Amino acid sequence: MLSFPSDGDLSLYLHIPFCTTCCSYCAFYSEPINENTAFLNAYVDRLEQEILAVASRVERFATIFIGGGNPGSLSAEQLRRLLVAAKAGLSDEVTVEMNPETFSEAFFDVFSEGLVTRLSMGIQSMDDATLNRLGRNARRCDNLRGINLAQKAHEAYGIELSFDLMVCLPGQTVDDAISDLKEVLTLSEADHISLYCLTVEEGTELAEQVGLGTTTVLDEDGQQNFLSGIWAELGRLHFDHYEVSNFCRNEKKSRHNMVYWKLDDYLGLGSSAASTIREGTVSRHYSQVQDLRDYASSPLFTGYEEEIVDSNQQMEEYLMMALRTNTGIDKQVFQARYCKDFDTLFLPVISALDSSWFNDAKDLFVLTEYGFMVLDEILLRLALVIS
Ligand code: SF4
Repeated sequence: MLSFPSDGDLSLYLHIPFCTTCCSYCAFYSEPINENTAFLNAYVDRLEQEILAVASRVERFATIFIGGGNPGSLSAEQLRRLLVAAKAGLSDEVTVEMNPETFSEAFFDVFSEGLVTRLSMGIQSMDDATLNRLGRNARRCDNLRGINLAQKAHEAYGIELSFDLMVCLPGQTVDDAISDLKEVLTLSEADHISLYCLTVEEGTELAEQVGLGTTTVLDEDGQQNFLSGIWAELGRLHFDHYEVSNFCRNEKKSRHNMVYWKLDDYLGLGSSAASTIREGTVSRHYSQVQDLRDYASSPLFTGYEEEIVDSNQQMEEYLMMALRTNTGIDKQVFQARYCKDFDTLFLPVISALDSSWFNDAKDLFVLTEYGFMVLDEILLRLALVIS
């Protein structure tokens, strides 16, 4: 059994590692649903049993996020079973990821029961040629259908909407990306956009294409110019850039993702899920290492590997997560968590940084949008002080 405190706020992540097929840029663990339907029922059974066991030890989960993979690979009844087991009706926010090609009105029954508050849909692009290059299953017509259905769910059940878009794609211009964004926002009342820059992950089809020279991707300067253009447009559309890749209006941040960025406690269940749990000064990570078949056929709570995170590592993780947000590092929280004065520790490094990268106030250290673009370099320099 995983160790976690039964008092205080705990969030829950459930991993559904099935996709229709694998996208060319994706390095996440998932299995093609059509080849693995036989495991799906057994997978859901074990996941439900694990949820019930942990839910019996907490009053409720603060937030719940069902991600993947593609949770749209589940039937509406399977999704409902998992949400009921997790006492989803008691949570402040319940997000379900859904790909447009598998989203249908069948899921509206689950929405009508108040078990889901937020839908996060991977659109990525509105252009057929780009979707094809990315190896997405959805085409423009699927995306249009998915967005329209999501808007219906918003109107009928108050479901909050978030759409994922990708930028810096081969052959894509800033104007193309702005046109995708505007089309999504014309078709829906989404208050949240996740905007991901294409990255080439080792072992993916995209990495192979780049290696062969059949696909070219933007260099760092090209990416920064691209991001400046699309970020400025989101600003003009009154979206708050509250995390490196996330934008919201009307204060509709993803509360669940804020848990990750604040390094608060969350439990991840399901094949390949990860958890971070703090008890006093001890922080634990759990990584679920079983593949889908082993997960579906093994006893409950096997395959979760525990790692005790030492205090330096905890501090590094806090910097890495908190600096992604526009609330940055709260120096008092840093002091309370790590018994160290942020200014004393980091002032020599911060003084050597370009002043356009950050705002350093008495209580807060926050990166600017330009700082977001060079986040890795800033983290590297700060981490040298800790190690
Ligand atoms: S749908 Fe998402 S998780 Fe599945 S392969 Fe594509 S990017 Fe990866």
